[in-house]
Amino acid sequence: MITAHLPAGYVLYRLLPRGYQNAPWILPAALLGAILPDLDLIWFYFIDERAVHHHRYWVHIPGFWLAIAAINLPLIKVVWPRFMPAALAFFAALLVHICLDSVVGDVLWLWPFSTEMFALFTVPASHDSWILSFLTHWSILFEVAIWIAAAALFWTRP
Ligand SMILES: [Zn+2]
Repeated sequence: MITAHLPAGYVLYRLLPRGYQNAPWILPAALLGAILPDLDLIWFYFIDERAVHHHRYWVHIPGFWLAIAAINLPLIKVVWPRFMPAALAFFAALLVHICLDSVVGDVLWLWPFSTEMFALFTVPASHDSWILSFLTHWSILFEVAIWIAAAALFWTRP
């Protein structure tokens, strides 16, 4: 997934029950969770010099976020219960991000039990540029559909 993570966060927010959509900080939490894993691209390009696939960084590993959620959600529920909906939206958006990445990108779904990476589909290197290969692959229609859904939900918001 190249461009549709942020609109996917918005779609997630809009699919929440109406009562939750008004919870404090829930929209920023959903949008942040939707894009947070890809902030590792800064490290990937400017520090690591593309030495390791960025989907191997901890922010793209579902098992890591599962552990973080298991530790933090009970704490938030006790200490800041009014922010629990935002916290749930944040972690749900993270999961959506990683699921969307896994459509045509490798993800360490079984970490820490395995370091094998899984993707639903593989994008063949049809062009010299990886981005052109992705942009000309049928899976780009999935991204377009997410953008259209987010735009439709935005323009029809109550
Ligand atoms: Zn990602």
